[in-house]
Amino acid sequence: MKVVRTVAEMRAARHAVGDLGLVPTMGYLHEGHLSLVARARAENAATAASIFVNPTQFGPNEDLARYPRDLPRDLALLEAAGVDLVFVPEAAEIYPPGFATAVEVRGVTDVLEGAVRPGHFAGVATVVAKLFNIVQPTRAYFGQKDAQQCVVIRAMARDLDLPVEVVVAPTVREADGLALSSRNSYLTPEQRAVAPAIYRGLQAAKALFDGGERDAEALRRAIRAAVEAEPQMSIDYVSVADPETLRELTRVTSQALASAAVRLGTTRLIDNLLLA
Ligand code: AMP
Repeated sequence: MKVVRTVAEMRAARHAVGDLGLVPTMGYLHEGHLSLVARARAENAATAASIFVNPTQFGPNEDLARYPRDLPRDLALLEAAGVDLVFVPEAAEIYPPGFATAVEVRGVTDVLEGAVRPGHFAGVATVVAKLFNIVQPTRAYFGQKDAQQCVVIRAMARDLDLPVEVVVAPTVREADGLALSSRNSYLTPEQRAVAPAIYRGLQAAKALFDGGERDAEALRRAIRAAVEAEPQMSIDYVSVADPETLRELTRVTSQALASAAVRLGTTRLIDNLLLA
């Protein structure tokens, strides 16, 4: 496994391989990330991962400084998973002095995470556009866990004619349903015990939907009820929206994306389920 730290090294390494799958990450890897690696390996001649805690996607009061990091462990996991190439840039390599450009995807970034985290998706779209240009992958792999991020990146790739196939892979969960996340490491044992309430709420909405419920507010109510049963949790949003436009629905006529963002102490957790 080759580890590269500069854009020039990454470009040189890229030219030595054919079909390349890229898994962009912020590190502190878990089985969710590794499922993306496995998918990339299955579908490409070579696999690359990036580890970069992107400062521009964090708000001023968010967790950039305390975001968990363990590069030696991440590199060992990637090597064991069969990754060929790892890009680990410093912030100054990605954002050198004078950096002045941003990629803004309009519309789908106004709602949900975008409404609570202003500027977040401009940071995400800009860094992912840069990673696509630096690594030049054939395919890039993202997790359904960050459903809105997937919508934003697909829109960017389409609108800017980026020659990358965007692949979205299913959310990997703990046995009790909690979606794996690097941020789960912030949770105290007590918080960890109540965290699966988010997934329980989403599952309750799915059970209602599968039973024929099509009133979006009834589905939202089911999610809220499960979360509000845990007094430590506070809701940022609960949503039942069109999976493509991300606009809130009144009635579900075909598919819907049920999603929630919750604060548990100082930790913010998100999750979603597709109702189809
Ligand atoms: P992050 O390191 O949190 O930026 O995540 C890097 C990639 O892994 C993103 O495409 C995420 O959507 C994806 N990912 C994070 N958690 C999971 C999970 N539990 N299951 C599947 N993919 C995930």
